[in-house]
Amino acid sequence: MDNAVCECGVSEGQLHVFGCRWEFCPFCELQMVECDCVYDLIGLRHRGNPPETDWLSAEVFSGGLNDEQEQRWLATLEARGRIPFVDTPQFCARCGAKWPEHFQVPDVVWEYYAGPAHRKSVLCAHCFGEIRRLVDANRPRPAWLPAEETILEFMLAWRSGDRETLQRIEPQKFETHYRGIRPCRLGGPATG
Ligand SMILES: [Zn+2]
Ligand SMILES: [Zn+2]
Ligand SMILES: [Zn+2]
Repeated sequence: MDNAVCECGVSEGQLHVFGCRWEFCPFCELQMVECDCVYDLIGLRHRGNPPETDWLSAEVFSGGLNDEQEQRWLATLEARGRIPFVDTPQFCARCGAKWPEHFQVPDVVWEYYAGPAHRKSVLCAHCFGEIRRLVDANRPRPAWLPAEETILEFMLAWRSGDRETLQRIEPQKFETHYRGIRPCRLGGPATG
């Protein structure tokens, strides 16, 4: 078994280096990268500060915590009980490969091939390719499904962060209030 190490350098069971984004907050249980408990818990929000800066002072809003505030936040976390690093690896749900590389396809493509069996799974690119090949070998591709070249183009655009191409292929995803497609097995996907 390989020894898991966090991005901050610590091994399993050890506390993260203070400030590591992967540490879980012991108050809200979100990862630090998403948690903003600090502002309320060490009293940095005041009515006197403008709502545009989230009731924080301009210094904190734009520059983050100063040393004294960081020490108070650390003491608050320690008093509550900090949460040590434990590895939570992802596996391909089909072949079991650890930490498969992420990829993205248009939602209709994922829904058509992954469907209820794997809708919420992590799949490696190899297994998803196999599923596509096997399904296509046994069933004509519906006309509403994007063409093979378009799917490939989308995957490459996602990898390189080419938003323009992603938006051209899947414009509905860039609309506000997009909540994903409804699962639909017959007659093509319903969007919105
Ligand atoms: Zn860490
Ligand atoms: Zn929190
Ligand atoms: Zn796999």
